[in-house]
Amino acid sequence: MSGLRTPVATLAVTRDAPLAPLTTFDLGGRARALVEVGSDATLVEALRYAKDQRAPVFVLGGGSNVVIADAGFAGLVVRMASRGVALEDAGEDAAGPRVLVRAAAGEPWDGLVARTVAEGLGGLECLSGIPGLVGATPIQNVGAYGQEVADAIAEVEVIDRDTLARATLTPDECRFGYRHSLFKEPAGAGWIVTAVTFALRRAAPGPVRYGELAKALAARGGVTTVREIREEVLTLRRAKSMVWDPEDPNRRSAGSFFTNPVVPRALADRLVDDAVATGLVRFREEVPVFSAPAHHGVPSAKLSAGWLIERAGFERGLRRGAVGLSTKHALCLVHHGGGRAAELVAFARQVADGVEARFGVRLVPEPVFVGFDATF
Ligand SMILES: Cc1cc2nc3c(=O)[nH]c(=O)nc-3n(C[C@H](O)[C@H](O)[C@H](O)COP(=O)(O)OP(=O)(O)OC[C@H]3O[C@@H](n4cnc5c(N)ncnc54)[C@H](O)[C@@H]3O)c2cc1C
Repeated sequence: MSGLRTPVATLAVTRDAPLAPLTTFDLGGRARALVEVGSDATLVEALRYAKDQRAPVFVLGGGSNVVIADAGFAGLVVRMASRGVALEDAGEDAAGPRVLVRAAAGEPWDGLVARTVAEGLGGLECLSGIPGLVGATPIQNVGAYGQEVADAIAEVEVIDRDTLARATLTPDECRFGYRHSLFKEPAGAGWIVTAVTFALRRAAPGPVRYGELAKALAARGGVTTVREIREEVLTLRRAKSMVWDPEDPNRRSAGSFFTNPVVPRALADRLVDDAVATGLVRFREEVPVFSAPAHHGVPSAKLSAGWLIERAGFERGLRRGAVGLSTKHALCLVHHGGGRAAELVAFARQVADGVEARFGVRLVPEPVFVGFDATF
């Protein structure tokens, strides 16, 4: 691509745009061109423009789950900025009154959660404090404290970046899984999310599934409202630097850098046996192993990536030049400022290699790598 031609007047294109300030890692180079799209019509115009220029397109939300290469992105970055939230009563069933909440892709996620909680609506409260925008939440099926966004999604509106065709996808069509969706598969990678509709409940919250949260709520006298759940989630997240805060020394991150590995149950059992045999733990229960759905008929278990990292010898607060591990959470790789994306990626590989050498499990990164030649 020899440079993008001047687009039609309504499209405000910034050339040679720095991307680092648009990401929570604050790393990476420039985009050949960047455009903010505040409406579906502008998005279509931007896609037509990129097609005309034969420029690859990268869709950016809040930049809280991306690692941008130092070389930047040789194409058009489309930054989602469409706003709008609409609530609609949708009758009542055995579980109580249902309310549909449709939000544009560019709405800040936590603002939406705060609004639904203020309305007394249940379904998103455990997902409080996650940075980023609404449109990105279906991509990796964001989850926290026992809730996943897939549990509440009624439909996802999309535009195909090549054909410009529009579609409305059901949750089944989105193929949601643990930190996974159709949008991460080749068949769905062309879709751009323009709006998401959530089906929420105006009813007392159900039992809290996540042990740490349930314990914290019990300590303050048990749950009564979604508002209390949100407050407690935010308190727990702040203690782990998992709420983005400009004053926090651990702030330049993408949250959890690796997903929790889902492995065959037999492998998890061997790992636990080995941990006891080698004196890493005294009791089997000390190794965090969670149940997971069977994978292609094979009984499976979910391991804690943070535990594996710490027990492989990478301690919280470890520093390697301008990058390292959060002082609060071993699963969170951080940039301390003035570094390069290459340093972060090299450090991430060291961590993954160290865990593999110690436990025979390869960690898979959660953020999306943009502009890199090789995959992780
Ligand atoms: C402190 C911190 C805590 C976090 N905690 C959690 C957590 O608890 N649980 C969790 O799941 N995640 C967590 N994350 C990760 C991140 O916040 C989420 O994945 C979030 O949904 C990313 O949103 P974003 O708008 O920043 O997406 P970006 O980082 O901008 O983009 C991420 C990916 O989504 C794609 N994308 C974005 N918008 C669209 C769209 N409209 N259509 C199609 N593709 C799109 C991008 O192309 C990219 O591939 C955390 C991150 C940080 C920094």
